[in-house]
Amino acid sequence: RIAYVNGQYVPQNQAMVHIEDRGYQFADGIYEVCVVVGGRYWDMEGHLARMQRSLEELQMTSPMDMRALKVVMAEVVRRNRLKDALVYMQVTRGVAPRNHAFPPEGTQPSLVITARRFNFDQSDEKAKKGVAVISQPDIRWGRVDIKTVGLLPNALAKEAATKAGAAEALLVRDGMVTECSSSNAWIVDETGAIITHPKTNEILGGITRQTAIACAEELQIKVIERPFTLEEAKAAPEAFLTSATSFVMPIISIDGAQIGAGKPGPVALRLREAYKARASRG
Ligand code: PLP
Repeated sequence: RIAYVNGQYVPQNQAMVHIEDRGYQFADGIYEVCVVVGGRYWDMEGHLARMQRSLEELQMTSPMDMRALKVVMAEVVRRNRLKDALVYMQVTRGVAPRNHAFPPEGTQPSLVITARRFNFDQSDEKAKKGVAVISQPDIRWGRVDIKTVGLLPNALAKEAATKAGAAEALLVRDGMVTECSSSNAWIVDETGAIITHPKTNEILGGITRQTAIACAEELQIKVIERPFTLEEAKAAPEAFLTSATSFVMPIISIDGAQIGAGKPGPVALRLREAYKARASRG
C-alpha cells in the first residue's frame, strides 16, 4: 500500500510522522473518510467542504488548495490500484516543540492520505440482515460538529459495542440520542417519516446524512430534524444509521430489544437503494 505523506508517496509500512506532530500530542488535527466506488469518489464535494469547515473552525491553514488535494486524492487511489476504496485524509497543525498554544505562524500543517480496499458486497450482505446497537453515554466535548481526530470517547463507545456483540453505539446525552460513535442515528415514526438529530454542535453533520435527506425528499419521505429519546428509538417501527462507509444501515435491535419486526425495515431499505443510486451519480 502507498500512502501520501507531506508531499511524498511512500510505501505505507515506511511512512512516518514526527513525534512532536500536534496531531500525536494534542489530537490537534482533523480528518475525512470517503469512499470510491468503481473508480469514482462518492460525495467528494461534500467531504471537501466539510474538511474546509473543520480547518476554519480550528483556525488551521489548509496544507494545499482543494483543487490540488483532489489531484492527490485521485493519485493515492491510482497508485494503490483500487477500484473500490476507503480513503482516509488527515491534516494536523504540524510539528512544533510541545506547547498548548498554537505554533508560530508559517508552521507547515501535516497532510496524510491513505487508501485501502473496500468491500461493498459485504456491506450489502450486512444491510440484508441489519445490525444490533447498544446505547452508551455521550461523554464527548461540545464541538463534535468539527471532525477532529480526538476520538477517544467514540473509541470507548465502539469498544463497548464490540464487546457486546453489537455493530455500533447509540450515544445518549440528557436522555436524547445524539448520533452513533461513527455514524448518524435515525428512527422512523408511525407515519413513515424519518427523524434525526438536528445539525448542531452536538453531532457531526454527516455527508451521508445530508445526501440521505435529499434522497428522502426525492422519495417524498418526510424528514423531521429533532432530537429523540432512547425510549422512543426502542419503540420505533424502524431505526437505521448512516455514514460514508455503511451508507444506510438498518438497525434491528437496541440494547437487545427488537426494533419493529427484528429485520431491516422497508423505509431504511428504500433509502439505502436511493442513496446508492444517487451517490454513484456523483
Ligand atoms: N458521526 C460521527 C461521529 C462520525 O464519525 C461519522 C463518520 O465517520 C458520521 C457521523 C457520519 O458522517 P459521514 O456520513 O460524513 O461519513
